[in-house]
Amino acid sequence: MGLPTAILFDLDDTLISAHLHPRAAWTTALETLGGLPDDPAAADAAITIHTAAKWYWSDAERHRIGRLDILAARRAILTRAFAEMGWSEDADLIERLGRHFTEQRTRDTKLFPDAVETLEGLAARGVRLGLITNGNAVDQRAKVDRFDLARHFFHVQIEGEVGFGKPEERAYAHALEKLGTSVTETWIIGDNLDWEVIVPQRLGFYAIWRDPIGKGLPDGSEAKPDRIVTRLTELLEA
Ligand SMILES: [Mg+2]
Repeated sequence: MGLPTAILFDLDDTLISAHLHPRAAWTTALETLGGLPDDPAAADAAITIHTAAKWYWSDAERHRIGRLDILAARRAILTRAFAEMGWSEDADLIERLGRHFTEQRTRDTKLFPDAVETLEGLAARGVRLGLITNGNAVDQRAKVDRFDLARHFFHVQIEGEVGFGKPEERAYAHALEKLGTSVTETWIIGDNLDWEVIVPQRLGFYAIWRDPIGKGLPDGSEAKPDRIVTRLTELLEA
């Protein structure tokens, strides 16, 4: 199968490692913050927080609101986890931990090592590239700028800037219009099975699931990606 006219890329955990290994990240945040109640085993607290986070992000509407105000989302997650652990609802500590975790996540976010090579390789083969990312305007634009990504893309679309995001149909339609390609000429790639596989396939896209750590599809998943890639450079082997 040859390359398509255009490819729409997701950003977080597709081109950059924004949210990988969340439980380990919470463990690190708890270990490095200090001043926590009862001198807890950080790994145990991390499990409870990670469970609260999974609950929080599992609801589509909560997800939509939370990703537009990430600190408020982390406040809600930590409030739930603190209650679960029987810790007092210390608003100041929750705020400090939420900010500490968010800063740590930002610091630890890296461009995947083969991202630039892949984007440049695709451009050299004449593929028109688009970036379509959910999240608030400030954070997502800061990531695009920090990793100097805009230069690779014909169109950059940030949910917080345009006012709508995946999996709303108009998010994909808007991106296609900007790319000037039809859905059958365009691939989409990303790590979110709803946003970048299931909904796009329903709209007619060829959908590639990005599985950066090779974990495989979750048990019981209904998603049937047209293709799964672990390394981005696999796209150049199309
Ligand atoms: Mg993603």
